[in-house]
Formats: sequence, structure tokens, C-alpha cells
Amino acid sequence: MQELSIFWFRRDLRFTDNTGLYYALQEKENILPIFIFDEHILEKLNHKDDARVSFLHRTITSMHEQLRDVGSGLSVYHGKPKDVFASLIKSCKISAVYANRDYEPYATSRDIQIDEFLTSNGIGFYTFKDHVIFEKEEIVSGNGSFYKVFTPYSKAWKAAYHESKPSIKDDTLKSKNWAQVEPQKIPSLESLGFQSTKIPIPSKQVEDVLLEHYGEKRDFPALKGTSRLGIHLRFGTISVRQLAKKALQTSDVFLNELIWRDFYAMILANNPHVIDQAFKAKYDHIPWRNNEHDFNKWCEGKTGYPIVDAGMRELNQTGFMHNRVRMIVASFLTKHLLIDWRWGEAYFAEKLLDFELASNNGGWQWAAGTGTDAQPYFRVFNPYAQADKFDPNKKYIQQWVPEWNTSNYPKPMVEHKFARERALETYKTALEG
Ligand SMILES: Cc1cc2nc3c(=O)[nH]c(=O)nc-3n(C[C@H](O)[C@H](O)[C@H](O)COP(=O)(O)OP(=O)(O)OC[C@H]3O[C@@H](n4cnc5c(N)ncnc54)[C@H](O)[C@@H]3O)c2cc1C
Repeated sequence: MQELSIFWFRRDLRFTDNTGLYYALQEKENILPIFIFDEHILEKLNHKDDARVSFLHRTITSMHEQLRDVGSGLSVYHGKPKDVFASLIKSCKISAVYANRDYEPYATSRDIQIDEFLTSNGIGFYTFKDHVIFEKEEIVSGNGSFYKVFTPYSKAWKAAYHESKPSIKDDTLKSKNWAQVEPQKIPSLESLGFQSTKIPIPSKQVEDVLLEHYGEKRDFPALKGTSRLGIHLRFGTISVRQLAKKALQTSDVFLNELIWRDFYAMILANNPHVIDQAFKAKYDHIPWRNNEHDFNKWCEGKTGYPIVDAGMRELNQTGFMHNRVRMIVASFLTKHLLIDWRWGEAYFAEKLLDFELASNNGGWQWAAGTGTDAQPYFRVFNPYAQADKFDPNKKYIQQWVPEWNTSNYPKPMVEHKFARERALETYKTALEG
């Protein structure tokens, strides 16, 4: 039996500047690339036309075709990763498995299990940093503890970046070390229990000119001022190192956003409790109202607050919502409606194309005031003032809420001043109690 090594693609779906893949092909011959549609993950998705699964399937298919052109191919499985490896080691002689690290709690425990299983079968499991620029223990304060506040973290991050200058790895497709395999068929989307979506996926090309004007335009949702690269960073169809290099040449403000991404990944990796608890324990005492009727109005974009409704409708129709508006709708849900941030977080997780556990959780806890570096609870966004400042001509509102300013548009579901005072009182009592 021919000896193979495996490269296991997960959230790193590209051939260029893919750290683990680069080292696998440098260090071993006969690299068999695999991808597993993980049952644990797919089972949790409620919508059969989930755009992220369609995107994943399309990306996998295109990678398979590119590998076919070099005489290889992607072996694609549907199941539980441990079962897939158990069956693989029965059918081939495997000397090593390479992968890039994934820091989400489920992925971390899965990888510990796979590592134990492979090691007990005499197979090495080698993992690499790829999804972030700096991992959880690389940027620490003077006393060795992790940062809880963004600004000092970002300063330390930049110093470390300039010192280490992360290198960009070559394209791997031309390597001689791909296993030459018989072409296999990829499971269809339908056989995985899904169907294709009509939601368009943003391009992964980003123009320099967009980044050059990013600092001036990024806060205005009616403008095309941000990159929309979230989904590509989430699945690794682009390299964060290449993007950071580009940011360094074009926009410091954009670089800062990439640092936020590392920051929240670091926070989650060091504090896995944040997935279902407040980062700051005392905020777990807030008595949320959790009114389901109110929550549904928020989800549907029928709150009577035009900027909130525009954001929610943009999300429901496109899988995207502008960052400024994410902050406004999240503040509205948690402060105006006193609904648990975890409800909003779960709704975003279901809808966002760029859903990333760490950033979503960080964004929600920031808005609710429960997280790191939090917006103090007494700062409650005024949705009218936010709309006047960031959508001054109401173009964004008109785009998503065509009936705004007509008799068909609902009245505000709660009065702003009343809701603000209720939130302040509720938070104050909970935190002092
Ligand atoms: C309540 C809430 C929930 C959020 N949920 C997510 C999420 O699930 N996934 C996600 O990637 N971002 C999330 N964000 C952060 C941010 O809103 C999005 O990253 C951004 O809007 C995506 O659009 P873009 O790709 O055009 O970003 P750009 O502005 O072009 O930024 C480029 C990239 O930098 C990263 N980035 C930008 N802002 C942030 C930020 N504040 N925190 C972390 N990373 C950032 C993203 O990877 C983004 O794609 C959330 C923010 C809030 C307030």
C-alpha cells in the first residue's frame, strides 16, 4: 500500500499562503488533500438554503477542479471527523495529518480527540497557525497576562507585527508532492441536505482605492465603503496575512479592524466561557425582559425605528449588515428592549454570511456592555441621532425601508426616552445589587 500524508482543509480554503498546507508539501510526499462536511456543524443549521453551505460547496468544487488539473483531487467526506479518519486509516497507509489550527471551542475539543486517535494509531497530527496573525499567547501585557482592553492590545500587536513581519507562503498548486489520485465525485449539496441559495456572495477582490478611502467612508452604511471580505476571512478563501500587508500600504484604519478580529479570537480562546456567559460575571445578573413578541419585531425589522429596521432587513435579505448598523441594532435589542444579548447573537449567527463566533460574541458583548473593553452601560445609542449622523440623507433607510414616512410604517414600538431610562435603571440595580 502506498504511503500518504493528509492535509485536512477546514477554514483555510486556498492554495496560496496556506501555512499548514505549505509545510505539508515541503515536508512530505504524496499529500492527499481532504475536506470533511462535519455532521456536528451541519446538523445545527436550520435553513436548507444556508448561503454559507452553498459557498463552501462551491469553493470545495472549484478547489477540486484546480487539483484535478495537477493530477490530484480533493477527497470530500460527509460525517463525523473521527469516523472519517477511522475509515481512512483502514483503507490507506497514512504517515501524518497536517492542518491549520481552529480556535473555536468545538473545533478545539474535536482536534484534541483527533490528535489522541491519530497518535494512538502511530500517526502524527501537526497543526499550524494560519487563521489569525497572532495567537492567544503571543500578545500579552508586561506581566504576561492577556489584554482585556483593545487599545493597548493593538499597540502591542503592531509592535510585534513590525518585529516579526509574517512571511507570505508561495502558491502550493505547482508542488510535485500532491498525491496522484483517481478523480472522485464530490457529494452534491442536496445529498448533504442543502440547496443552493440566491444570496450573492461578495467578491474576494478588494480595490486599493476602497482601502485608501476606508477611513473616511467606513461608517456610512449607504456608501460602499467597507471591504465585505468577512466571509472570505471566515472560510480562509483569502489570507489574513496578505490582507494585513495590503492594509499596511493603504489604510491604518483598515489594519485596525483586522486587529479587532485577532483581539476577539484571542479573547474567546483565553476565555471560552464567553460563549454563553458575560465576560464580566456581574453582568450575568441583568434581569432581561426577553419578550418574544418584541424580539420578533426586531428580527423582522418592524420596530418603527427606521435605522434599526433598515439594518435588520438588510441582514435578512443579503446576509450582510454594515458594522455601524450592527452596533445600533445590537444596542437597541439589549438596551431599548432589554432582551438578552445571546438572543441577538444567535440570530446573527444564523443569518450573517461572515458569522465568526469570536467576533460576533465580542460585538454583542460590547454592545450590551457585558464584554471586554465594553461600551459603558450608561451610554445608550440614540437610534435617531445615529441615523442623522451616519445616514444624513436617509439613503440607506430608503433603500431598505421603502414604506418609511408613509402611513404603512409602524409607530416606534417603544419610546426612546422611556426605554433609555428603563435600561439605565435595570442595569444600575443589577450591577449594584
Ligand atoms: C453585534 C456585532 C456582531 C458582529 N458579528 C460579526 C461576525 O459574526 N463576524 C465578523 O467577522 N464580524 C462581526 N462583527 C464585526 C464587523 O461588524 C464585521 O466584521 C464587518 O461589518 C464586516 O464587514 P466587512 O467585511 O465589510 O468589514 P471591513 O470593515 O471591510 O473590515 C475588514 C475585516 O476586518 C474584520 N473586522 C472588521 N471590524 C471588526 C470588528 N469590530 N470585530 C472583529 N473583526 C472585525 C472582519 O474580518 C472584516 O471582514 C460584528 C459586529 C457587531 C457590532
